[in-house]
Amino acid sequence: MNIILLGPPGAGKGTQSARLVEHHGMRQLSTGDMLRAAVKAQTPVGLKAKAVMDAGELVSDEIVSDLIDAELAAMDADTGAIFDGYPRTAVQADILDRLLDKHGRTLDYVIELEVDEDALVKRITGRFSCANCGALYHDTANPPAQEGVCDACGSTEFKRRPDDNEETVRTRMQEYRAKTAPILPGYEARGIVRRVDGMASIDEVTAAIDSIIG
Ligand code: ADP
Ligand code: ADP
Ligand code: ZN
Repeated sequence: MNIILLGPPGAGKGTQSARLVEHHGMRQLSTGDMLRAAVKAQTPVGLKAKAVMDAGELVSDEIVSDLIDAELAAMDADTGAIFDGYPRTAVQADILDRLLDKHGRTLDYVIELEVDEDALVKRITGRFSCANCGALYHDTANPPAQEGVCDACGSTEFKRRPDDNEETVRTRMQEYRAKTAPILPGYEARGIVRRVDGMASIDEVTAAIDSIIG
């Protein structure tokens, strides 16, 4: 099973990917996470990407596609892939087709998380994660059960992304509308797009995705 989770920033792609990993033993391939790791490690890719990410713009197709190629090469053939935040442009969508082919995989579904844009700013400005294990939280919609303690690992250290501010979010939404949404019709023509109401609760969204992938 290979799926793309598609939706604007804050739609819930990372949250749902984590559940798919846990429930179905799939692997999450998040170009955003890979880029943040590269920035942290100050690799050449990270040094190049940082300013672009801070501005909310898109990193080059080549850089993110190389990251995905390397991850696919390192994966077990029978572990399913969840593409989270990739592809984001028509060029990336074409490259992904080639990469899947190269690595002997086929795309089963493109799951579009449909969300109301006004809610996204609230979701993103309230987003934080565990500094130790990366578990995702939200100030009001999804706080840890015990305040200040990670449900998953017990850590008391949390962090927020530098690009999760209102101004950058607006740019990221525009990038999504202008460059990412236009890749949907191509997948629609292949009959593999499934839509899920991303405004439902986290559990309801998970159930809807589970019923699609079976
Ligand atoms: P994405 O990866 O698409 O940018 P995230 O999964 O990081 O989105 O979710 C963005 C924020 O919204 C997080 O703080 C997360 O806890 C919260 N969130 C995710 N799904 C929902 C939902 N269905 N309802 C309310 N809040 C949600
Ligand atoms: P979100 O959770 O808000 O959808 P991501 O974590 O996926 O955001 O991405 C954060 C930033 O990393 C993006 O704003 C962009 O600068 C860069 N990025 C991530 N994935 C891609 C990609 N596939 N193509 C280009 N840039 C990307
Ligand atoms: Zn944790």
